[in-house]
Amino acid sequence: MHPTTQLLQEARDRVTFPTQELTKLLYGNEEIYETFMKAQKVIASEPSIRNHPDYHNWGRKEQIIKSYEKLRIMHQHLNLANSAHWAPMLSLFQGTTPSAVSFGMTVPALRFLGTDEQFNLWGPKFLTMEIVAAYAQTEIGHGSDVQNLETTATYDSQTNDFVLHTPSVQAVKFWPGELGFLSNYALVYAKLIFNGKNKGVHPFMVQIRDISTHKPLKGVVVGDIGPKLGYSTKDNGFLAFENYRIPLNSLLARYVRIENGQFSRHGNEKISYASMMVSRQLIIFIYPRMAAQSLTVAIRYSITRQQFTNDKREENSVLEYQTQQDKLLPRLATCYGMIFAGLRIMELVDDNFHRVLKKDFSTLQQSHAILSALKAWSSQWVVDTAEWCRLSCGGHGYAHYSGIPAIYFDTAPNVTLEGENQVMYLQVARYLLKVLQYVEKNPEKVPFYFNFVLHIKETLANQSTDLGQLLKLTLTLQLISVAKKIKDNMSTGKNFQQIWNEVVGVQLLSVAQRYAEYFTYLVFQEYISSANPSVKEVLQQMCDLYSLQVILDNPNTLIESGRITVEQFKQFNETKIELLNKLKPQALGLVEAFNFSDNALRTCIGCHDGKPYEYIYDWATKENSVNIKGVPQAVNDLMGTKIKARL
Ligand SMILES: Cc1cc2nc3c(=O)[nH]c(=O)nc-3n(C[C@H](O)[C@H](O)[C@H](O)COP(=O)(O)OP(=O)(O)OC[C@H]3O[C@@H](n4cnc5c(N)ncnc54)[C@H](O)[C@@H]3O)c2cc1C
Repeated sequence: MHPTTQLLQEARDRVTFPTQELTKLLYGNEEIYETFMKAQKVIASEPSIRNHPDYHNWGRKEQIIKSYEKLRIMHQHLNLANSAHWAPMLSLFQGTTPSAVSFGMTVPALRFLGTDEQFNLWGPKFLTMEIVAAYAQTEIGHGSDVQNLETTATYDSQTNDFVLHTPSVQAVKFWPGELGFLSNYALVYAKLIFNGKNKGVHPFMVQIRDISTHKPLKGVVVGDIGPKLGYSTKDNGFLAFENYRIPLNSLLARYVRIENGQFSRHGNEKISYASMMVSRQLIIFIYPRMAAQSLTVAIRYSITRQQFTNDKREENSVLEYQTQQDKLLPRLATCYGMIFAGLRIMELVDDNFHRVLKKDFSTLQQSHAILSALKAWSSQWVVDTAEWCRLSCGGHGYAHYSGIPAIYFDTAPNVTLEGENQVMYLQVARYLLKVLQYVEKNPEKVPFYFNFVLHIKETLANQSTDLGQLLKLTLTLQLISVAKKIKDNMSTGKNFQQIWNEVVGVQLLSVAQRYAEYFTYLVFQEYISSANPSVKEVLQQMCDLYSLQVILDNPNTLIESGRITVEQFKQFNETKIELLNKLKPQALGLVEAFNFSDNALRTCIGCHDGKPYEYIYDWATKENSVNIKGVPQAVNDLMGTKIKARL
């Protein structure tokens, strides 16, 4: 057996739990797992869409063309009506997935905000890709502050339609994905002007390109905004309108309507959250799985990579070093927690979705808060994890052939898109403060995943060093502290908005992140309870490691409160080291439970059978088109005959 294959095989033999039991938990249900495996198979077996070893030498245009081809073929194999079918593709492709915005953002918005007739009119055309529609909200001048968008849709009572217009450069739609080339429609968010009055920002389904020629329609200026950090295959675009007429039916009319020349509102204004929920839920569901890919590569490589000898004069796998374990294993533990949180959130969003369609908005705000907290926390964490995995693979981690840099690039935008993370955290903090206010007058209104606020006295009095208890205590202390600071400042006559923006901002971000961490802990425990007995022990160790790392990363609140002594903290560090020792032999099983194929990992250094050096060298000599095409002519000219001629 090849020596590095053997190292991996020995590591596999040391794993003491059945990995398939974890696989079941990690995918949540059979349908998701089967679809995921099918998508991996289709990508690997179709030569025209297989992840290509030379991909990173290609130009952006070639990469974009390839990604459309992938979409066409996946479309033949999977049911794109069901996000469980297409969402797994997002983590398996080289580059981003074309039409993910159309399916993940625009279709849900249409479902939530359009009438049934509107959904029946356009919805089926999305499935046949007769319509691909960008989600055009952000403008050059405003993104987070949606209420200040400047594109106008002015109702014309004479013609009973709207005039869509871009009044200034800063009102140009900028950034929407799939707008640059792919879309023939866009869901455009514009200020509705009715009888000269601003009725707020609302969504309009607008045709922007001709269905048969795909050329922009008259009055529409549209194109691609150019290269970005990562996201090379996503045609983020710009869009401007020059007094462009659109029919009355363009306004998504489930909650606002113009009928018989009258404007009216129906239902809850906050419904606009609902459509963003689907895409945020996908970010939480999909991207921690890309972190799992980077961890799979890094852990396999750390087993096969040997540096320096031990006291028996044998070379050490770098995973033997405590420092290497410390880089990777707490992240692997967190990854499990996030994936479980993503699955639970999928259920919560689904439940909320059905309620909203029946005009029951009771779970809307709590779902929004949980999603926002987890979107912000997980998206930043995924990028950081890719970076740590890259570092843990030394020089080879830096090369695209490791598979890790692309994960970094293609997950980095998630920190900003779909709600900038800090803006999201501020919304979470606002909801936490609201829930705190329920305690005295309406405790029955406190939702299940926020019920820590109902036990504040007990939490503060509890002397236990149980890790879950300490996470709850940290969250509780921070929430009480920021609520008190706001109250104290208000009693000095300061205005609430000023306090929010200038006095407590940093604390608000902190408490929101503590909530995300605590929620993840709760869900982690739920998954352990329902797990097969054969994996309960290893999962509990992972949950303990996750919780300890969270506490050790942010010890100030507990230390300042005097609830934990310095000695106890030292003990936490010792416990963490013990857990690293226990989990090291399980690490390979823990990443292989994800069942990523080599092709999906797009790696030379983290393959199932090891052999990193052979694959790297093969890649450099046989796949790297820069070598295959030979030295560029300009170099030959410089270094060859011309230089000699000068000499
Ligand atoms: C790759 C990519 C794809 C995208 N795709 C789409 C798309 O398909 N459709 C679409 O409509 N848009 C899209 N966007 C735009 C994206 O949604 C916005 O960029 C995002 O919402 C952030 O808004 P912004 O750019 O206005 O940032 P800003 O809000 O200007 O943020 C700048 C800074 O100000 C801070 N800040 C802002 N407000 C506050 C506040 N109240 N308190 C404290 N700090 C604050 C932020 O934390 C940040 O640090 C995309 C963006 C990217 C990068």
